Amino acid sequence: MISITGLTKTFGATPVLDQIDLDIAEGERVVIIGPSGTGKSTLLRCLNFLDRPDAGKITIGDLTVDAARARKAEILGLRRRTGFVFQNYALFANKTAQENIMEALVTVQRLPKAEAAARAQAVLAETGLADKANSYPAALSGGQQQRVGIGRAMALNAELMLFDEPTSALDPEWVGEVLDLMRRVAEQKQTMLIVTHEMQFAREIADRILFMHSGKIVEQGTPAEIFDAPQDPRLKRFLARVS
Ligand code: ADP
Ligand code: MG
Repeated sequence: MISITGLTKTFGATPVLDQIDLDIAEGERVVIIGPSGTGKSTLLRCLNFLDRPDAGKITIGDLTVDAARARKAEILGLRRRTGFVFQNYALFANKTAQENIMEALVTVQRLPKAEAAARAQAVLAETGLADKANSYPAALSGGQQQRVGIGRAMALNAELMLFDEPTSALDPEWVGEVLDLMRRVAEQKQTMLIVTHEMQFAREIADRILFMHSGKIVEQGTPAEIFDAPQDPRLKRFLARVS
């Protein structure tokens, strides 16, 4: 359902993604782990052209895009099919929680405003934030802000949800509620690609774990395979550091 082949990205002279191949099944939950600076964020960002890949093919559902010659309409098509949850929430400071969720529904998905508002309210109820619809981000805790960020992605009904270290910017006290919301998203059989340093959560939620190093996927497997029987020495070193 999602297929990535030969995805390549270079910043200046530095290769950051080196011929990434990855298939993800419908409803599958894939977690990416790996040291920082290894291309995890760039991989996620290339899938919806927040970063423009140099080469490769991306298929999401019925849309296949050749990165080297992607047209505007195709890029919009990828954005319609993906929801992105950012490490730093990336909410609009001058919009309320509800308006933040409505934004992409109106501008990218072209829903009428009333329909977007109704969907935003439904998502706010699902995320436990119904009473915060009219609050601005500055009036919300970090955990609440990130739940709005996840709600914004949920509202898109996207074929793929991308999470880039959604709890790394949070004070420890807010991490639990954000992980709980991600578990609820997973229960809806949503296809998810998640970058995280929460190894316990990764073990629990992932169907498959990818270990990235220097722009490549160097090992992948079930949580048991990756955590209990790692093969690559770089993965062994990484796990020794983070656990
Ligand atoms: P990770 O998410 O695994 O920590 P990133 O994908 O953020 O890694 O970054 C991979 C590499 O690409 C790093 O060396 C980083 O410095 C570089 N990089 C990322 N974004 C840019 C950019 N916009 N311009 C130049 N270099 C970048
Ligand atoms: Mg990153």
